[in-house]
Amino acid sequence: MRYSALSIFKQALAGNLGWKPVWREPEPKPHYDVVIVGGGGHGLATAYYLAREFGIRNVAVVEKGYLGSGNVGRNTTIVRSNYMLPGNEPFYEFSLKLWEGLERELNYNVMLSQRGIISLYHNDGQRDHYTRRGNAMMMEGVAAEQLDRETLKKMLPFLNFDHARFPIIGGLLQRRAGTARHDAVAWGFARGADRLGVDLIQNCEVTGIRRENGVVTGVETTKGFIGCNRLALAAAGNSSRVGEMAGLKLPLESHVLQAFVTEGLKPCIDHVITYGAGHFYISQSDKGGLVFGAEIDGYSSYAQRGNLATAEHVMEEGVTMIPGLSRVRVLRAWGGVMDMSMDGSPIIDRTSIENLYLNCGWCYGGFKATPASGFCFAHLIAKGESHHVARALRLDRFERGFPIDEAGAGTQPNLH
Ligand SMILES: Cc1cc2nc3c(=O)[nH]c(=O)nc-3n(C[C@H](O)[C@H](O)[C@H](O)COP(=O)(O)OP(=O)(O)OC[C@H]3O[C@@H](n4cnc5c(N)ncnc54)[C@H](O)[C@@H]3O)c2cc1C
Repeated sequence: MRYSALSIFKQALAGNLGWKPVWREPEPKPHYDVVIVGGGGHGLATAYYLAREFGIRNVAVVEKGYLGSGNVGRNTTIVRSNYMLPGNEPFYEFSLKLWEGLERELNYNVMLSQRGIISLYHNDGQRDHYTRRGNAMMMEGVAAEQLDRETLKKMLPFLNFDHARFPIIGGLLQRRAGTARHDAVAWGFARGADRLGVDLIQNCEVTGIRRENGVVTGVETTKGFIGCNRLALAAAGNSSRVGEMAGLKLPLESHVLQAFVTEGLKPCIDHVITYGAGHFYISQSDKGGLVFGAEIDGYSSYAQRGNLATAEHVMEEGVTMIPGLSRVRVLRAWGGVMDMSMDGSPIIDRTSIENLYLNCGWCYGGFKATPASGFCFAHLIAKGESHHVARALRLDRFERGFPIDEAGAGTQPNLH
């Protein structure tokens, strides 16, 4: 069923009784060419591109909860490609280009809103860093603009310019960045994959990885054994647990990241804004709620909830940046489990085990990567070699001494 203005009109005339389920609910087959563990954004996008771009349709996505119950439905929806290092920038720019055509590609409204992201800076050192980052982006053909304090004052008058402990002196703007509706992205890829014949198997937890003579032959699940020629892990915050089932010790720590949304307000924040003196970031949803978050909770956990101390700290950062926030009521808070890699950059690679492929290490930024991650992971699985924009995202880069240390913080996930 194709979605269009005409189909909405026709369905309205028929009392909206003709809408079909967006995907099937199949029972698992005994064997697939590819099994993907994790029905989050990355697993679903991988399945979609495997079928669409590489003609591999005998694919199953196995999800322990419901589709989109992980971080893809918990993030703060920011998409951008304002990275600096050569290992990252072409990958995230490829992703942003895929985002720009995604709604047409999927025939699904993911509510992409390219409202621009402004990264504020507060001292000369930070200004130099953002100038360097802007230049690096431009050298990759990605537009970036420096904004001075006076321009920012006109654009964002609600920020605390004059009485802040860390006064704002400027910002780096990427106009093509913005937000997209997170769960619509999961649903859109799920629908697209299902239409191409992919089996989406919900409420089916992978509990073991079966190997014969060192080669992966399938997964043990709560719905029985499912055999496969190739196994692709896209379990985000649970990657270390799933990897352990194959005896892998991954360079990851799982940490909780919280997010918050306020009551609905009239439109007041037109951009995504990040605070350079902390880790705070904010935007306004289409329903009017201010959506914000900051840094991880600072201890390893697999629990999808955070602690009050971090919540308090996030509020303090927010009010420091926008004093008027103190009068707004927070409606909801939630947490997700982040797969924090040792250098803050992701991993899309084969593993030392034959037929086992790995997609993880998304840290704070995997939502924006969803289309490119799916595309590049599918490319790797189908062709056996990395897509050229993902060549640096290797699992063995730590061992070889080639980390992609975007934050310049070294191997400390809590500082990324
Ligand atoms: C609060 C918060 C805010 C964020 N904000 C942003 C942002 O603004 N921009 C951005 O780019 N990124 C953001 N992120 C990061 C982003 O959401 C993640 O990096 C990304 O969603 C991870 O990929 P995924 O969608 O595939 O993960 P998930 O949706 O977590 O998918 C993994 C799936 O694997 C399943 N799974 C795990 N173990 C098993 C098993 N044994 N068997 C079967 N299934 C299993 C899980 O149930 C889950 O559904 C944020 C994350 C959080 C938590």
